[in-house]
Amino acid sequence: MDGKRNNTALSSGNPFLWILILTLSFLLSSCTGLGFRESGLSIQSTESQAIATAALSSEVSDTSSTGDVRITAVPTDTPATVPVKDSGQNDNVPENGNKYIMDLTLDTENKSIGGTMTVIVRNTSSDTWDKLVFRDYPSLFTPDTDSGYPADGRITDIGEIRDITESETLDYSRSGADVSVLNVFLQTPLVSGDMRKITFSFTAYIPNAENRYGHMNNIYNIANFYPVLAVYEDGAWSTEKYFDMGECFYSVISDYEVTVSAPSGMTVITSGKTTRITPSGSSRIWTIFAPVVRDFALVAGSDFEVVSEDAHGIAVNSYYSDGDINSGEEALDAGVKAILAFENEFGEYPYPEIDIVLTYLDAGGMEYPNLVMISNVLEAEFSDDSLLKIVVAHEVAHQWFYGMVGDNQFTEAWLDESFASYSELVYKETYLSDEEIGAEIDDMEAALDPEGIDIEPGNYYINLPYDEFKGPFVYVSCVYWRGEVFLYRLKEAMGEDAFREAIKVYYKDYSMKIATTEDFIQVITKYAPDNQEVEQLLQKYLKE
Ligand SMILES: [Zn+2]
Repeated sequence: MDGKRNNTALSSGNPFLWILILTLSFLLSSCTGLGFRESGLSIQSTESQAIATAALSSEVSDTSSTGDVRITAVPTDTPATVPVKDSGQNDNVPENGNKYIMDLTLDTENKSIGGTMTVIVRNTSSDTWDKLVFRDYPSLFTPDTDSGYPADGRITDIGEIRDITESETLDYSRSGADVSVLNVFLQTPLVSGDMRKITFSFTAYIPNAENRYGHMNNIYNIANFYPVLAVYEDGAWSTEKYFDMGECFYSVISDYEVTVSAPSGMTVITSGKTTRITPSGSSRIWTIFAPVVRDFALVAGSDFEVVSEDAHGIAVNSYYSDGDINSGEEALDAGVKAILAFENEFGEYPYPEIDIVLTYLDAGGMEYPNLVMISNVLEAEFSDDSLLKIVVAHEVAHQWFYGMVGDNQFTEAWLDESFASYSELVYKETYLSDEEIGAEIDDMEAALDPEGIDIEPGNYYINLPYDEFKGPFVYVSCVYWRGEVFLYRLKEAMGEDAFREAIKVYYKDYSMKIATTEDFIQVITKYAPDNQEVEQLLQKYLKE
């Protein structure tokens, strides 16, 4: 995510810091320079053209798939060694993850999204599980929680929960301390290495909010909306709190097979790829496959248009509304340049497409796999200097850091935010000189060092859990800006080639996995052996 437009405490008198603060209060950093799209074919199409294209590229069928067939299917054409009980053994579940099969309806009358969800859970731990823990974030958008959202949401309705593998009905309870924590009690424990197929229906209510989860003027941002399996590690399920600033999301890579029924006039933009759009009465059913992603999100609206460009085989789509093609084009330009720069710097983006969506958002931007939401208050400025472009670059960078290299966003937010902020510099290299970027970092560090944060060692740590920072301003200063300075100084201390190689290895080793601060330190020290300057930087910024 890029910073909130509000809630940022202001302090201090240094002009550069003020610029930082004001920029962040609407989003991050400032930059200079300009550039134009370098290459590639720009295709402008309307919503209907986009739909036609998607429909043409699909195996067209007028019959929408229903989850029932998949949910109840028992293997019949498989070797005898396959167990009779359907534990998802024929569902191509990712090796270290889960699989979600969802048949959803976006109900714009009742402002809700829901349907049936079948999840094939893989126990990748060495423990036996007698319960599963899901996170139901929409339930926190009610007035009585302390999540920071005084929104008009409601507690998510959950239907009967069935253990398909064991043919059992399961009890569940919500945690008294946190309504978003759903404990589902298994009648038959799930042993290490095994899979279990669970199904239930749910309806989540969408608040009227300019938020990553909310609707505004008939645009629906629908993220973190389905009960997602928590991460099990160190003998326990992660149940970090949900805050309105920063993130608390934490999940493992999974496959998603999803259908979304939405009113006919709406465009549905999602993680993954739409393979089919099927008319159904006054609705259309969008069939989506999103393999090997950390999360699944969508944006729906009736006024979207799209401009697209190919970036070395990756379809970059920039969706805009209100006819604001200039902002759509500018976001597209930044998206293409960012994808190319980050592939070169970090490693391959393995997905076929990425969607950039200009929408209502109280932050500058918010990242989801294959889909980034960008605030539609950010507008085209016809230069690379625009906040719009920097925010797009930042959110696109999160595909690598959070999307692919996962982390616990509550306990070690720097592992995605510092890297996304540093990646802004990688993007800026497309139009700024090394000297200009170095001067920008010098200014940022000078502004941060004496002001904004008390000068004491603990205030330099960037790898603290969210609730250990002394307020939102210190959190942002450390996790975004100090982290950016830290990574830049690390590059200086190691030398550009060694640093670049280390980051590439870090990305390769932890892609589709979860990284920790310790993992990062190990890679860095391997590429910077006996480097005192590196050692000092690690000690200054990272708490052991
Ligand atoms: Zn971010």
